[in-house]
Amino acid sequence: MKILDICDLSVTFSTPVGDVFAVNNTSFSLNENETLALVGETGCGKSVIANSIIRLLPQNAKVTGSILFKGIDLLKVSESELEKIRQQEISIIFQNPSLSLNPLYTVGSQIIEPLIIHKKMSKQNSIDKAIQLLKTMGFSNPSKAYGMYPYQLSGGMNQRILLSIAMTLNPSIIIADEPTKGLDNELVRDIIDEFNTVKRVNNSSIILITHDLSVARELSDRIAIMYSGEIIEIGETKKFFKKPLHPYSQALLNSLPERGFIAPNGTSPSMINVPRGCKFHPRCPYKKQECSKKIPLFYSYDDRSVRCYLFQ
Ligand code: SF4
Repeated sequence: MKILDICDLSVTFSTPVGDVFAVNNTSFSLNENETLALVGETGCGKSVIANSIIRLLPQNAKVTGSILFKGIDLLKVSESELEKIRQQEISIIFQNPSLSLNPLYTVGSQIIEPLIIHKKMSKQNSIDKAIQLLKTMGFSNPSKAYGMYPYQLSGGMNQRILLSIAMTLNPSIIIADEPTKGLDNELVRDIIDEFNTVKRVNNSSIILITHDLSVARELSDRIAIMYSGEIIEIGETKKFFKKPLHPYSQALLNSLPERGFIAPNGTSPSMINVPRGCKFHPRCPYKKQECSKKIPLFYSYDDRSVRCYLFQ
């Protein structure tokens, strides 16, 4: 059953050098207990989608379309209603754990705060719950970790603290924005394990925003590939890794070390002077005449959707 339904979402930023078309007519849904990975290169619009869902975009953003959460359009609800949803229903874990945590407070006090404020738990019960969460998140000495400050913990440990905070209120949706960015391979492995724990313990739906295909492969049920502000392919993760459909998806997979490290030709187009037609056409080895004239629609193939004329 759908818990989030995004329809025709477009986000444009007005800037002194022109309008930046960050997200264009993007639609997708998220089902209960599902993990959906939004994958693409830096600047393709993934984080803009995450911030649109919880309406945390700067004032120069123009947002159109709809974002239905349990039937409520998040783009239309009042700020006070949205604040409640942000606090209790949709948790977001931002990219940089050391910037997201308050350096002046112990990690324990940052975990118990939402429990005391929103769940009206007693201080002792919230401490017990926090210590239990830290244990679930793999801290071998959770009581000691509870009393530590963010600067005393590694980047990977702070990432686990953010996951613990996200889990406190048992939200319906957790949005994780590049949770493994900048971490070494061992810590990436740890974070993948912690997310698997969250999926098992919390039953939350997860939107995983990542540029790392191997993280998406391990954690997601479905995968959506983004290119220049658009989803160009979406479907079951297993099928995607067996046979990616869109030429850009194929190029992305070929850039993985185990597939030969072959970088895609060219670079992503400008978000201001957007190419006509399929945005990938200047780089596409299969382009046809129509590709540079009209934006392709989504076509269905093998229970997946792909925005490419080859599947017309
Ligand atoms: Fe290539 Fe055309 Fe498909 Fe775009 S629509 S990916 S240019 S074949």
